Amino acid sequence: MTINNARSLVHHDDELVKTSKKVISCPRCNKMYHFTINVHDTTEEESTGIKNILLDLPCKHKMVAYVDNNGVIRGTFPIDKHVTDLKPIDLKGYDDRIDDLQKKHERLIREKDYNNAFAVKKQIAALNREKNECDALIKKRGAS
Ligand SMILES: [Zn+2]
Repeated sequence: MTINNARSLVHHDDELVKTSKKVISCPRCNKMYHFTINVHDTTEEESTGIKNILLDLPCKHKMVAYVDNNGVIRGTFPIDKHVTDLKPIDLKGYDDRIDDLQKKHERLIREKDYNNAFAVKKQIAALNREKNECDALIKKRGAS
């Protein structure tokens, strides 16, 4: 069989290329699993890109497997922490919240409630830090 024939076989027999059975072991506890992936589920048939696949394992561990277009696992990486309580950022809201806290801080100082004033000051500092991190992220995003 020539290389050309092999290529056309790969590209035209959907049953052969669509799915690939894989065996992996959990990087955390070494339990072994098999799974099936569709390696040609993108429109770019000739793409040589590597897919990053999140595997939610029955042992409760999570990992990422890097799989190339031929279904070969190029690497695995354990996920240390899975954060799901993500909320969209209200950029405009920062200034309003900081303004409100500033007023509250001034009022507490006038009332000589220094403990609460100090707590509010810490909240303001935390919000400013968060806002600065957002600004840095926006700048970075704009540069790329
Ligand atoms: Zn595990």
